[in-house]
Amino acid sequence: MANLLGQSGLSVCVIERDNAVFPLPRAGHFDDEVMRVWQAAGLADEIAATVRVNPGMRFVNADGQLLVDWPRPSVLGNQAWHASYRFHQPHIEQILRQGVQRFSTVKTRLGTEVISARREEARVCLGLRASTGDHETLSASYIVGCDGGRSAIRRFMDVGSTDHGSHEKWLVVDLLLSADRDDLGDFTVQYCDPERPTTYIRMVGNRRRWELMLMPGDDPDQIVKSDRVWQLLQPWIGPSEAQIERAVVYTFHALTANHWHQGRFLLAGDAAHQTPPFLGQGMCAGIRDASNLAWKLAAVVKGEASESLLDSYQQERAPHVKYYIDLAIRLGGVLQATDVSKVQERDRLLGTAPEQLVSEKPRLGLSGVNTNQSLAGLLSDQVYLDDGTRIDDRVGYDFAVLGSPDFMRNLPQSVRDILAGYTLIEDEAGQDYLQRVGAEAIVLRPDRYILGAAASVAEFESLLSLIPRRLRAGEPA
Ligand SMILES: Cc1cc2nc3c(=O)[nH]c(=O)nc-3n(C[C@H](O)[C@H](O)[C@H](O)COP(=O)(O)OP(=O)(O)OC[C@H]3O[C@@H](n4cnc5c(N)ncnc54)[C@H](O)[C@@H]3O)c2cc1C
Repeated sequence: MANLLGQSGLSVCVIERDNAVFPLPRAGHFDDEVMRVWQAAGLADEIAATVRVNPGMRFVNADGQLLVDWPRPSVLGNQAWHASYRFHQPHIEQILRQGVQRFSTVKTRLGTEVISARREEARVCLGLRASTGDHETLSASYIVGCDGGRSAIRRFMDVGSTDHGSHEKWLVVDLLLSADRDDLGDFTVQYCDPERPTTYIRMVGNRRRWELMLMPGDDPDQIVKSDRVWQLLQPWIGPSEAQIERAVVYTFHALTANHWHQGRFLLAGDAAHQTPPFLGQGMCAGIRDASNLAWKLAAVVKGEASESLLDSYQQERAPHVKYYIDLAIRLGGVLQATDVSKVQERDRLLGTAPEQLVSEKPRLGLSGVNTNQSLAGLLSDQVYLDDGTRIDDRVGYDFAVLGSPDFMRNLPQSVRDILAGYTLIEDEAGQDYLQRVGAEAIVLRPDRYILGAAASVAEFESLLSLIPRRLRAGEPA
């Protein structure tokens, strides 16, 4: 969020309770859309050097029979990135932290906890407590609570949450291999064994993860002890081949906060929503929040758009998040089934005809900036331009128009004036994509979703009212 807001030139203060990056991995997977957000933040190349392409995920039953297959292509897809990556969360958090140092307008306050927040006229007033014990206050026009599942900001907003009904306890074990174990494989495997549902994940480098569901009779305090962990991992690996980096019990929740925006308060990431991790989409959803919100916040703070633009944030993001939560709960049901008759029925159905999963890119919810058109609210392809660059590298975290050369040439000057300050792309190389989607021009938002498409100048003009208008130097906000 701060890396994107920094590019917009906003004055930002990042407040973080811990001094160091949390050293242990939680998230291990992100997708091509998230890589595009890192690209918009100018950090994709650095991040790409630390990740590993993920070939996919398989669900198998206790007899090793395939139930669900979700292969991921090994070639670059329509986002100009691979569909799925494995990563080490502390690596990326470190890169993001260093990234904000590029911006003189972004300040970072580490070892500082927000202990109160209240609205004061058109500002938010925060009470801060430093790790030294010192107290101070800070005032800002907006606060975005990216403060995790136990969000203090959500508590101050007093908005409550909706529980989507998943509360399983799982033991998460991260191992550091001391010897090669290529036979463990690169695919994520969901072992749908009713005796103990288990997930194997090939993390980056020599890290491997097992997640094991707690069964009736398991004691969460005992199951994390190394003897018990090795006993549980015995079918795959033993203590002579690896060391335990950590073993911890998590409760996997499926929750959404009821309001993500209330006046000058906003929520993003786990503070706004949590999902069981079976799809590896929790952090991805938070990164999408940042990408959806940062340009809106910047436009409102700069006076280029009215405050109502912020209402579109939850309207667009909540149904998108819910798509992934529902899918995670459904697949979690396949994995976590322990009832004998349900397991038999599952194995009978899926064992004879395994489900083939393909990655979908859900549409954003309808909002004031997301018209009712067929393409609006869909994630755009990342096209290559005439000189071989990717469109996102040309545009940055900003609006752009991709149009056919003829169409763009015939745009009236009045329309071009409204678009002053935005990137207009009229490359031949964009034609394939425009033809495929049946448009003469499409307006792309900074978060790479399609604002709208036009087949005529009149249609195009009707989209313009949805674009924040760049203020000229000296023009009052
Ligand atoms: C086992 C497991 C596996 C997962 N796998 C994946 C995966 O593969 N892919 C994926 O996308 N997601 C995955 N997730 C989910 C992912 O880890 C989370 O969604 C993500 O870390 C949430 O990020 P966040 O920044 O919203 O919150 P957090 O990571 O919780 O960060 C919140 C930050 O706010 C700080 N903070 C809290 N309160 C205050 C305060 N009052 N003042 C100042 N600072 C404060 C905290 O110190 C913390 O640094 C997984 C989660 C788990 C548990």
